[in-house]
Amino acid sequence: MTGRDRRERVGLTLTVLGATSPYPGPGTSGPGYLLEGFGARILLDCGSGVLSRLAYHSDYADLDAVIISHLHFDHCSDMLVLRYALDAAARAGRLIEPVPVWCPTEPADVAGLMSYKEALRAVPITPNEPTDIAGLTATFIPVRHPIPTYGVILRPSKAPAVGSLLFYTADTEWMDELPGLVGDCEILVAEASLTAKQGVLGPKVGHMTAGEAARLGGMTNARTIVLTHYPPGRREEDILHEAKRVLARPVLVATEGLRVEWP
Ligand SMILES: [Zn+2]
Ligand SMILES: [Zn+2]
Repeated sequence: MTGRDRRERVGLTLTVLGATSPYPGPGTSGPGYLLEGFGARILLDCGSGVLSRLAYHSDYADLDAVIISHLHFDHCSDMLVLRYALDAAARAGRLIEPVPVWCPTEPADVAGLMSYKEALRAVPITPNEPTDIAGLTATFIPVRHPIPTYGVILRPSKAPAVGSLLFYTADTEWMDELPGLVGDCEILVAEASLTAKQGVLGPKVGHMTAGEAARLGGMTNARTIVLTHYPPGRREEDILHEAKRVLARPVLVATEGLRVEWP
């Protein structure tokens, strides 16, 4: 299937562009996910190395929108070079208007970097209000992390407003209220920064364990659970082992190029 087919499909394709954090390891990239379907092509987070992965799947100028969950650099550092790629595309007449970037407004000095000439235009996130983004409906859920951070629920615009097609936790500690806010979920992309041993740190650093991420998958009846945002060098089997202790269902560990399709 070509990128054009994936974008026009009545369905959603998630392609993992990067998953390691807070910095990449050998040959890996920071958090970044390409979402294609229902006529939209959206880049969700843009960490270090994400652009070089994105180039395998899409022309940068073909992005309809970018969503940045929060302005920690592991989620937005490659925006500083995407600006050059899109500026070049704009000057060559291949970009009709700046690509909108939904992002928080704080910290203000970093938010100010998300707009650039005719290439990128920052759009402030309004929490808890369904927002049309390139034909998909996004609802931004404030989550618990040291700076303003938003989980993202995506739904096809024409579907009834129950459940979630995709929920991305962004970076957050465990929140009892999340399963209720998300409802039943087709694809869950959940951060799994911590090991079970590190779990007590969760509320202090604003991150979840792999077990908590899997638990969220169970509580939202997620059909596909993708665990992501883990430090470079952590072994996939160790993440899966921790998830299995909580949830007796298969889960996936995000790695560059992993693709999930719905339906
Ligand atoms: Zn963060
Ligand atoms: Zn992060």
